[in-house]
Amino acid sequence: MMDNGKHMLARALCALVGFWLLPAWGGAEEDAKAGFRWPEGRRVAVSLSFDDARVSQVDAGLPLLDKYGVKATFYVTPRNLEKRLDGWKKAAANGHEIGNHSTSHPCTANYPFSSKNALENYTVAMMERDLDGASAEIERLLGVKPVTFAYPCGQKFIGRGVEVKSYVPLVAKRFLAGRGFRDEGTNDPAECDLAHVLGVESDGLTFDEMKSLVLAAQGRWLVLAGHEIGKPSRQTTQAAALEQFLKYAGDPASGVWIDTVQAVGKYIRARR
Ligand SMILES: [Zn+2]
Repeated sequence: MMDNGKHMLARALCALVGFWLLPAWGGAEEDAKAGFRWPEGRRVAVSLSFDDARVSQVDAGLPLLDKYGVKATFYVTPRNLEKRLDGWKKAAANGHEIGNHSTSHPCTANYPFSSKNALENYTVAMMERDLDGASAEIERLLGVKPVTFAYPCGQKFIGRGVEVKSYVPLVAKRFLAGRGFRDEGTNDPAECDLAHVLGVESDGLTFDEMKSLVLAAQGRWLVLAGHEIGKPSRQTTQAAALEQFLKYAGDPASGVWIDTVQAVGKYIRARR
């Protein structure tokens, strides 16, 4: 009995240790169990995305991305495209993804910039017009039809109180994927809802912090979301950290598959 008891205790300890080690180091075994594998033996997928068509994305971001041959996703509001229209056309022609980020960028009434265009006061019909208007305008300006979407402010509701609805279904009907913002985790490729992809903020992160997110996401899909690209400042993905990250993640030895939200989303959908 004693021996058997010790044996069981040892097995329980092994299972416990294994359980704690698996999420960090057992990605490949986990994938095999789930039957999901990233292409070419890569261990983790990463998508870089940037919102609002800020001019620094064209001026500072695209030259960096193109230097390392990495494709990113830009979630644009059409009215901002006009400020760098030729740059955006070039980005689309170079294989960067141009996604939909709504026409009028509605967010909660609690934010001063959206208090007059608040999700609390939206109806389904208003949101449908806003989404479809942006896709039409992006196609008119750049000649590409957006395939994925990013929820402005990461917020996914319309209405108030007992009338609140999720607008995730409107996004699911129109787009391959919808990306959130300031989410706390990464996406399980075997299980995630593509209309509700978790997005982690890249603004303000150092290279080491970005790399740590990748190492913690083995077997999974990390979607980073930022705004400006440049020197450390508010709502800014630091250009120096981004350049180090592009060097790291763009090297196949890192085991990272870095590609657009559309490319990774398509790969996931094809395996469902
Ligand atoms: Zn935005």
